[in-house]
Amino acid sequence: MGRKLLLDKVGIVGIRSYDVYRENGGYSSVEKVLKTMSPDDVTNEVKKSGLRGRGGAGFPTGMKWGFLAKPEGVPRYLVCNADESEPGTFKDRYLMEHIPHLLIEGLIVSSYAVGSNRTYIYIRGEFGWIVDILEQAIAEAKNNGWLGKNILGSGFDCEIYVHPGAGAYICGEETALLESLEGKRGNPRIKPPFPAVKGLYGCPTVVNNVETLSTVVPIINMGGDEYAKYGTGKSTGTKLISACGNINKPGVYEIEMNISVEEFIYNDEYCGGIANGKRLKACVPGGSSVPVLPANLLLKTAKGETRMMTYESLSDGGFLTGSMLGSGGFIVYDEDQCIVRNTYSFSRFYRHESCGQCSPCREGTFWMEKILWNLEHGKGKMKDIDLLWSVQGNIEGNTICPLGDAAAWPVAAAIRHFRDEFEWHVTHPEEAQRRNYGLAGYAEPLKAGV
Ligand code: SF4
Repeated sequence: MGRKLLLDKVGIVGIRSYDVYRENGGYSSVEKVLKTMSPDDVTNEVKKSGLRGRGGAGFPTGMKWGFLAKPEGVPRYLVCNADESEPGTFKDRYLMEHIPHLLIEGLIVSSYAVGSNRTYIYIRGEFGWIVDILEQAIAEAKNNGWLGKNILGSGFDCEIYVHPGAGAYICGEETALLESLEGKRGNPRIKPPFPAVKGLYGCPTVVNNVETLSTVVPIINMGGDEYAKYGTGKSTGTKLISACGNINKPGVYEIEMNISVEEFIYNDEYCGGIANGKRLKACVPGGSSVPVLPANLLLKTAKGETRMMTYESLSDGGFLTGSMLGSGGFIVYDEDQCIVRNTYSFSRFYRHESCGQCSPCREGTFWMEKILWNLEHGKGKMKDIDLLWSVQGNIEGNTICPLGDAAAWPVAAAIRHFRDEFEWHVTHPEEAQRRNYGLAGYAEPLKAGV
């Protein structure tokens, strides 16, 4: 059984409530930091732990906190990004639903470290029932003296507010999130300035993801050095993975980052193998925006080394032969899955979620969806595959925010590794078309100019 640091208490009856959480050691990290540590001490422990942001980019959390500007007389903000909307990723939701006080505890400790007296949880609007769970946890924490003025007599004040979004994936991008939190349309901002200098209401702001902030609790409890002994290399600690697709046991798993991809897929402790006795075809290992990997490159790197569930190993080979750990949304395809159809499905999503500010993303996602629809429905031509390659290449790196890249990468990887399937759709138009009759939700895309 792998070691657990975040989900170890999930399963204790009533752990969602304050009393049970507290009886099981909850809020001890708040006591520790407010009674014995300075804010810089907390940041240093997080630096020592090697914790990397669990939202997708994997940037070192302690370093991010260290970048925060501290001008005199200007408030600083901590914002928790709970806008989990990446297709295939559902682990933050699980954490908030099952053990909400862990996030609240992590938020209080992190707020103390960065000097935030007003901290916000920006949560995906569709998570209405989790808003209620968090509101209740915040009220319980406040009633028991963990929030409010002069917490534990330390002189530190902190309030936490929950702010639901309105259903836009782009608001998971940190600057779009801040715009939305300020009451504006959620359009990403041009950077610089970065939020660490000019964030919420023009003040220095740190935006961290739910899992990242929850992980601060075990780091403080055990110490940064001890935490860094978990995992391997620059992938320290444990990571939540939401596994779905054609596997026997879809769900959320906490893994120590020292197991192989093969073990994660086939071991009964995790995914339990491919469903219905089928063969593994491919996998998107880090949420819909990261490159798909065919089975041979998923289990071993191009150098023939065992592929591990770590930031470094999953990205080994760059995007030519590797992918990314990303947000930990692990989507497994068996031998019956159509890569063109899945790529079309992702493209449709990104076209819908593009905010439209920059032309390469707005126009590119539109045309990618259209070309993929034609290919998938037996209406494509060979030259469309090259056109699709060209369109995705003109998006990557040419946009304000990473949504453009997120839309381009899956298309590039699908063509790179599965070009023969795209060609099959052109050479077998009737078969491709027949397979798609009656598929709900796959209507023809909008016409150009509409
Ligand atoms: Fe908007 Fe797309 Fe540009 Fe991001 S890349 S700012 S989503 S148009």
